[in-house]
Amino acid sequence: MNVGFIGLGNMGGPMAANLVKAGHAVTGFDLTAPCPEGVTRAESAAAAAQGADVVITMLPNGAILRAVAAEVIPAMKPGAVLCDCSTVDVDSARAVAEEAAAAGLSALDAPVSGGVGGATNGTLTFMVGGPDAAFATVKPLFDIMGQKAVHCGAAGAGQSAKICNNMILGVTMIATCEAFALADKLGLDRQKMFDVVSTSSGYSWSMNAYCPAPGVGPTTPADNGYKPGFAAELMLKDLRLSQQAADSADADTPMGQLATALYTQFVEAENGRGMDFSAMLPRFEGRGRQG
Ligand code: NAD
Repeated sequence: MNVGFIGLGNMGGPMAANLVKAGHAVTGFDLTAPCPEGVTRAESAAAAAQGADVVITMLPNGAILRAVAAEVIPAMKPGAVLCDCSTVDVDSARAVAEEAAAAGLSALDAPVSGGVGGATNGTLTFMVGGPDAAFATVKPLFDIMGQKAVHCGAAGAGQSAKICNNMILGVTMIATCEAFALADKLGLDRQKMFDVVSTSSGYSWSMNAYCPAPGVGPTTPADNGYKPGFAAELMLKDLRLSQQAADSADADTPMGQLATALYTQFVEAENGRGMDFSAMLPRFEGRGRQG
């Protein structure tokens, strides 16, 4: 396939490189990042999109996605698919899909989980919203860049799945960390706490697979000085998107709201920026009862 790839940063660069390795012709554009080996550099986003069967975007946010989409849609060939893999707000994903449809094209929102490691190793998970036919067209590319692609529904369904999942993750990580800090103060051994909770009703991915306590459970960023992993500021981005969506859909999400407030404080007013999101545990350890 001829693929246009716009946004060749930490995630987009290795994703584009994997498409080249699998034999696809990739033309790339980024404002600053270099093109990976084998990707043909275009002079603009529109030039990267011209003649492409699929145009993939991997950009920082919804405002940039909307601007790039407005530039590339008029340049795309009839029947081509615009596939955005960035994490953006649901409203932007839907607006871009409408704009593409009005131009006779189709669009997918296909955010990923798996981070830079997943992008490099081709093991991302794609959560995809948009028409069946567009999903079928892009599926072979998802299979190269990732290990799983779930078609979640119509436009916006991919972003919706991603932010709902990550809202649960933010909330359960905070709950797991505050419970460890309480257990410490009650004199409960952390290993015993893990042994009980990981096999009882308090278990979760945060406890069982990504335990925030160093030396307990599987090896995680906690065992590496809380170096990310999944950075606290990326968790904050996703939590903010969940609350933007909750506002727009009139959904009551009190725990999501509180998790957003706590990660905002951690990242913006404390030392959370650049730390893994599980570094909430040392944060709670150092605090007494509030209020
Ligand atoms: P990044 O900042 O490394 O890459 C974004 C790239 O977009 C940059 O190279 C930037 O120069 C480029 N860009 C910005 N505006 C542009 C424009 N108008 N035209 C062309 N290029 C432009 O970010 P990243 O870590 O690669 O993340 C990309 C997206 O993936 C984000 O939406 C992020 O939330 C999401 N994501 C990231 C991770 C992760 O672990 N890094 C995990 C899952 C999802």
